[in-house]
Amino acid sequence: MIADYVVDLRRGIDSGELVPYFQPLVELRTGQLSGFEVLARWKHPLRGMVPPDEFIQVAEDSGCIGALMEKVLVDAFAAMKKLPAHLRLSINVSAIQLRDLSLRRQVSLAAERTGFSLSRLTVEITESALVGNIEHARSVTEELKSLGSRIAIDDFGTGYSSLRHLHALPFDEIKVDQSFVQTMLSRRESRKIVAAIVGLGQSLGMLTAAEGVEDAAQADMLLWLGCDLAQGWLYGRAVPAGKLSQYVSDQKKQQSKEASKRPNPEDTAFHMEALPSQRLSQLQAIYDGAPVGLCFVDRNMRYVSLNKRLAEMNHAPIVAHLGRTVGELIPQFYVHLEPYLKRALNGEAFAGLEFQAEGPDGQMQVRSTSYQPTRDEAGEIVGVSVAVLDITERESTQVALQESEDHHRYAVELNPQVPWTAGSDGMIVEASPQWTTLTGMTEEESKGWGWGRALHPDDLERTSVAWRRSVETGDPLDVEYRIRCLDGSWRWMRSRAAARRGPDGRVIRWYGALEDIDEHKRVLEELRESRALLEGVFHAVPVGIVIAEAPSGRVVMGNPQAEAILRHPILPKLDTAAHEQWVAFDANGRRLEVEEYPLVRAIQQGEITVSEEVQYQRGDGSVGWLSLSAAPIRGDDGTITGGVVAIRDLEEGEQGRLRGVEVPEGKKVKSQ
Ligand code: C2E
Ligand code: CA
Ligand code: CA
Repeated sequence: MIADYVVDLRRGIDSGELVPYFQPLVELRTGQLSGFEVLARWKHPLRGMVPPDEFIQVAEDSGCIGALMEKVLVDAFAAMKKLPAHLRLSINVSAIQLRDLSLRRQVSLAAERTGFSLSRLTVEITESALVGNIEHARSVTEELKSLGSRIAIDDFGTGYSSLRHLHALPFDEIKVDQSFVQTMLSRRESRKIVAAIVGLGQSLGMLTAAEGVEDAAQADMLLWLGCDLAQGWLYGRAVPAGKLSQYVSDQKKQQSKEASKRPNPEDTAFHMEALPSQRLSQLQAIYDGAPVGLCFVDRNMRYVSLNKRLAEMNHAPIVAHLGRTVGELIPQFYVHLEPYLKRALNGEAFAGLEFQAEGPDGQMQVRSTSYQPTRDEAGEIVGVSVAVLDITERESTQVALQESEDHHRYAVELNPQVPWTAGSDGMIVEASPQWTTLTGMTEEESKGWGWGRALHPDDLERTSVAWRRSVETGDPLDVEYRIRCLDGSWRWMRSRAAARRGPDGRVIRWYGALEDIDEHKRVLEELRESRALLEGVFHAVPVGIVIAEAPSGRVVMGNPQAEAILRHPILPKLDTAAHEQWVAFDANGRRLEVEEYPLVRAIQQGEITVSEEVQYQRGDGSVGWLSLSAAPIRGDDGTITGGVVAIRDLEEGEQGRLRGVEVPEGKKVKSQ
């Protein structure tokens, strides 16, 4: 039987029945086509399409895998030659081929015959193919690399998942097996494994790819985990060579159609350059999910970060904001905002200031804005957190209401000031008609302490204490409380009053006004919630983050994770440069010079470091492996204003166990 099958397979190979099919590989961050993986198919005249699982093994065992490969390679290269040169091609080689030193020759001959550039080639090798075969595999892959091709480890996680294998060959890419991808949404273990493999790939500076992606939820999670490439039915099944050009041009059209819909990967408030850890996409998601426009501006009133909502309001992408000033971006509003921004930089907070100006789209816009000074650990104001609500719609509804019969809302929202007067004894002597329309209480009912009946029971005590105090001392009143409106709803009001005194200094009368602050309260509450979320995330990301200023290198911010990993306080003394308390070594155990720290390099040279591994002497004297990613923070004019480093403890959790890192002898030094 087997012998018949082999004869049939050989016949099939000779008569061109074995053909390459091409499955797309897509860049997760952009959704753009990155290339194809070749998957062999046997177009059998009687049995129809035979899948590779059935014949690859037979081809290997019977020694015709080389002939099969040659056919498939030549056809695949020829087809790829017709496609744009940035598209890559991945091929699978089997264990037998790795033992066979002719692979390199076969590949380069096929490339020569078809004019396909081998710098576009990625060779996928399964881990099991390496077992017992490392030496040979190394020389074969080194040859392939010398031709300019990349090497990927395929189906990682299914076999030995050995770091020895991962290290043995110069892999450029790691592919997570589809069995984990497909269960990662339902099984925690799968999710953990995918996260660990992706993290491992990142730490080793490899591209990471996931296969078997069938739905968008899986793709989202992979993106969140920082995976680079994806492959699977979500993006397309394998197509024959004849359909390849059509597929690529369809894909292009689709891309440009979707480009307008899809969020631009550049549209991340915490741009990767600013905070390199990909885990921060979590922070981003929350920031972006906030229902209000949010931004942080520095002391020069430049946008340091902002969310999508605000970018939409300003009709400009997020990247167009970063590093530019508020005045440059929204000049019409800036003339109104400037004084408040300046005061916020001096420590004042404002909520619910409303401004009307022509928006960037030429339409009139009404915005309610709140400003909160932001301080560093030393209490210094480093900028202002701003929350913005577009209330144009609300304002125009109000204009409509003006013409309607809705006097209640008219009174409250268009004439927010509700005047009142009281005698020197604190008894109300006069309430305005607005008060009556607002609460439904007549002037008679409101006199004396009668107005108190409109107050929310929870606010009554506090309000009357404040009012009594003012009456006793003559100090101005400023109190907030809810009142029950005619329609039964509660609204927040702010009541302020000042005393008018007679020539002898004694209070004659109180003049007060009620202001509707219900909307302001809501903005404040939303702002408080989003701030709490952001802070929560900064504290919850599974990496340590330390931010230092330039040029001093003084640490201005760090999260508790950083302290837990380094085991010493992040902000021990003021005016201490970050590196002065650091002791680290390279892989050979040589102590790093100050200029060699990624954070110092980021600040001094603007260098971006991705996942550099160092051995670090922690605060408790022990030495362990850390992965450091650092980037400069730049101002408008490109000057470096600071640096940020994301720290991962490579010995913590699963990745650490996978790595099996040992601390070399003699690496411990005494704390200075
Ligand atoms: P592989 O390299 O892991 O290829 C991926 C397999 O997953 C392909 O199966 C592909 O059709 C399938 N697949 C892709 N996306 C999805 C998805 O979203 N959901 C599911 N359920 N499956 C998906 P295929 O074509 O049957 O290939 C099976 C295996 O045969 C390949 O696994 C590869 O190891 C081997 N193979 C295929 N072509 C060749 C070849 O030319 N040479 C060698 N040596 N091996 C090959
Ligand atoms: Ca493969
Ligand atoms: Ca695979």
